[in-house]
Amino acid sequence: MALHLILMGPPQAGKGTQARYLATRFGLVHVATGDLLREVSQEDSALGRRVGDLLRLGEYVPDALVTQMVVDRMDDHDILLDGYPRTVAQAETLERLAIPIHGVFVLDVPEDELIDRAQERLFCPNCNAVYGSRTNPPREPCICDVCGHGLAHRLDDAPATVHRRLEVYRQRSEPVVSYYETRGLVRRIDGSGPVAQVSAALERATAQLFQRQGRVAAETV
Ligand code: AMP
Repeated sequence: MALHLILMGPPQAGKGTQARYLATRFGLVHVATGDLLREVSQEDSALGRRVGDLLRLGEYVPDALVTQMVVDRMDDHDILLDGYPRTVAQAETLERLAIPIHGVFVLDVPEDELIDRAQERLFCPNCNAVYGSRTNPPREPCICDVCGHGLAHRLDDAPATVHRRLEVYRQRSEPVVSYYETRGLVRRIDGSGPVAQVSAALERATAQLFQRQGRVAAETV
């Protein structure tokens, strides 16, 4: 059976960076709702403008819209969901659609560290790679290591929006962690250390889930 994993954590916990690493390492299909919504927000359409406004304000996009994006991408591949589900209604939808979840990794990072990270985060608008000037700087300032495109700040990393996003996470996404805790699926990972150390912890946890399915994790890196 295909492995379905969820990576959760507050804004700036390092979800994007770690999800890209894990997906490459284990050959998982990486479904990142934030990346998909940022693409939609670039479209010159009523939907694009509406999504763009919500992202700028740090608010969540309506459940139905984002759920459709995810369901369209679910198939019999091993999948890593990054940024979904973010509300209990979204988690219930997965259950209602009989989409099994085999593990939920939650990245724990102290709140003051999350705020500092937002101020220094840069991302690549072309390939979505993420950098932090302190924790994982690009080799050349403001240039993406992966594709050479210029880096940018995310609009939702503005200080007021960062505080709002943390509040929305506490109100709407922490209950999702409890939802999966009652199902015995949550594995908390300390996300405050160096990127490589967090990756190693996630890698061990993922390999264990493959083993539990009687499978050997693919060696893709
Ligand atoms: P991320 O890149 O995961 O930090 O997501 C960026 C933004 O996209 C979030 O702050 C939300 O506004 C929106 N978003 C991403 N995933 C979801 C989701 N599952 N439900 C609602 N909004 C989402």
